[in-house]
Amino acid sequence: MFQFFSYFFCLLSIIFLFLSRPTFPASILPDKVTVITNNSTHNATWHDFTRFIDAEMGSHVIGMSELKKYFTRFGYLPMTISDSNFTDNFDTQFKSAVTLYQTKLGLPVTGKLDSDTITTIMSPRCGVSDTAHKIHVTKHYSYFYGKPRWSRRMSPMTLTYAFSSTDMIDYISLSDIKLVLKRAFSRWSSVIPVNFKETDKYESADIRIGFYHGDHGDGEAFDGALGVLAHSFSPENGRFHLDAAETWAVDFETVKSRAAIDLESVATHEIGHILGLGHTSVKEAVMYPSLSPRTKKVDLKIDDVEGVQALYGSNPNFKFSSLLESENSSNDAIALASRSSKWTISLLVLVIVILSFFEYSTF
Ligand SMILES: [Zn+2]
Ligand SMILES: [Zn+2]
Repeated sequence: MFQFFSYFFCLLSIIFLFLSRPTFPASILPDKVTVITNNSTHNATWHDFTRFIDAEMGSHVIGMSELKKYFTRFGYLPMTISDSNFTDNFDTQFKSAVTLYQTKLGLPVTGKLDSDTITTIMSPRCGVSDTAHKIHVTKHYSYFYGKPRWSRRMSPMTLTYAFSSTDMIDYISLSDIKLVLKRAFSRWSSVIPVNFKETDKYESADIRIGFYHGDHGDGEAFDGALGVLAHSFSPENGRFHLDAAETWAVDFETVKSRAAIDLESVATHEIGHILGLGHTSVKEAVMYPSLSPRTKKVDLKIDDVEGVQALYGSNPNFKFSSLLESENSSNDAIALASRSSKWTISLLVLVIVILSFFEYSTF
């Protein structure tokens, strides 16, 4: 009898376990894998920045000069200071840089290297500098210096894009890469009167896409797995470069690496730069500079749309109200999913408790 109950509850708990899985919103996952320190393929240098946690004004931590190089690289310390002159002291200038970083990344502004700040610093990110462009006063999006944009006589404007014939990755099929990029371009063209069209003529294409290793001749060398993921250039340059050393993924179901990076999310972000957007301090927006591994962030948020429409105007078919609705409903969906997953977990716990009771009572 008890044996029967054991089997019955065991079966029941497996069913609950199975049912509870898909209810987790994908967006919960990244926080758990933001910091990757034990991956053998990981050779970015940012992972050891954890030793600076809690450093503040007056602190002296060996190796802090490395962090100062990072801040210089992304526009928070002036380029005029040569790398060899950096000290390991947390001085006034460094405090200003930390404060500016926290403001631009939408973090609590503490002026210290708290764990939130260090975690954000260590997250893989876009290689485009955060402060080379002006931040908007009241909004959160930004532009490159001089607010450049594409201009073409035709209406609607059509920009062509092409893939490099030599600098690509071979573990994702070209057709899959093309499909992902097509979707990424279409997200932007659905909100602005700009169309994107693929062409075979790489040299004459407006936007030229390729995957590159390390130093690839534009002064912005890639750094291996994680760290900098990609970079692209402001209008009307059109260069769109992805770090070939990343574990790119088009489907996390088939790519198990903890360091996998979603190609579509990065592509959508880089197209924003191609169009003239800089980085935003809105964490949920596509134009936020960092992206955790195994995270998908492809939907344009209000901040992204407002930013790009201020440059190009609106696509006549685009309705802001539908975007507002979808943002609200996706928030509701996440809240609902969290609630239902809590319920299924509670039920599962209850089942396990009952099951263990029967297990013990058979002895
Ligand atoms: Zn970027
Ligand atoms: Zn490049």
